[in-house]
Amino acid sequence: MNLDPEIRERVPGTAATPDFDETLRRNRLAPLRRLVPHTLQVNVGKLCNQACHHCHVDAGPKRTEIMTRATAERVADLFEASMGIRTVDVTGGAPELNPNFTYIVERARAAERAVMVRCNLTVIFVPRMEWLAEFYRANRVHLVCSLPCYTAENVQKQRGRGVFEKSIEALRLLNRIGYARGDLVLDLVYNPVGPVLPPPQPQLEADYREQLGKNFGISFNHLLTITNMPISRFAQQLHQWGRYTDYMGLLVNHFNPATVAGLMCRTLVSVGWDGRLYDCDFNQMLEIPLGAGGENKREDKSKDKPLTIWDVADVGRLAEAPIATGAHCFGCTAGAGSSCSGALV
Ligand code: SF4
Ligand code: SF4
Repeated sequence: MNLDPEIRERVPGTAATPDFDETLRRNRLAPLRRLVPHTLQVNVGKLCNQACHHCHVDAGPKRTEIMTRATAERVADLFEASMGIRTVDVTGGAPELNPNFTYIVERARAAERAVMVRCNLTVIFVPRMEWLAEFYRANRVHLVCSLPCYTAENVQKQRGRGVFEKSIEALRLLNRIGYARGDLVLDLVYNPVGPVLPPPQPQLEADYREQLGKNFGISFNHLLTITNMPISRFAQQLHQWGRYTDYMGLLVNHFNPATVAGLMCRTLVSVGWDGRLYDCDFNQMLEIPLGAGGENKREDKSKDKPLTIWDVADVGRLAEAPIATGAHCFGCTAGAGSSCSGALV
């Protein structure tokens, strides 16, 4: 792993975890470099109305790190100037709770970019958010909504009491206003409740469709399966269960070289709430700056300063930059692979 010692300390893994870059080299897949990015993923902060056990953002109702208006304006200028960016993917926390959320979405729509929002569903029922569902519809927002199971029991285990019932109510409301009933896209996200890999995506999608249709009359477009990353709150939970080493072993033993070509860090640029740039949302949580990996860093120390949205005129220029990897990357390459768009192979 070509990270400096300060960053290496934050990267998960155990003494037995092999070096991710070395694994890529052995499979003739190194070095991992960027293509021209087509997605700008904007994390507007850690504020959330929930505090789920597996959250890799460590988000919650008391977090105060949120994107300011000045930063949101610069983000919008950047996606407007980056002609390769086709999609603005807004995430958090619960991104809708940021006062600049509507500004970012409206600027993206005005710039003719597709807008994707990572929605936890319950935010629709937070007091004073009554406008939200209609705002999604009016701006043709592609919704990617967390629902880690179609049973109340499993959802409650991961996301808290009452979350399942509110999520079902929110999905019904979204269906009523046209989501998953025409060209408004409503995808669901599954992640395992425990330290295991997700089951095959197509099979689980069929189960979700049957169960949610039969029991609640709910429709959705796609189910995306996402592997829990061994960082932040999920890593703490693994340590509490005494399962951290086992879980890392599971990820490493299921390394699948076929996933590497589709890794989201190759085509996505992640923006933090304070305007710093990262290779992905996971690196953002570990505070590993974009371009901190690869031989590039060791050769040119001037590149050590974290890049921000104020340093880059067009994110297309980041093509060919080395991607900063770590032991957590085994979470994206295990089994069928994992990304913000679901399984990779
Ligand atoms: S997983 Fe999503 S809904 Fe849960 S605390 Fe984290 S950001 Fe909020
Ligand atoms: S965590 Fe996944 S998306 Fe992020 S740099 Fe590693 S492989 Fe790429």
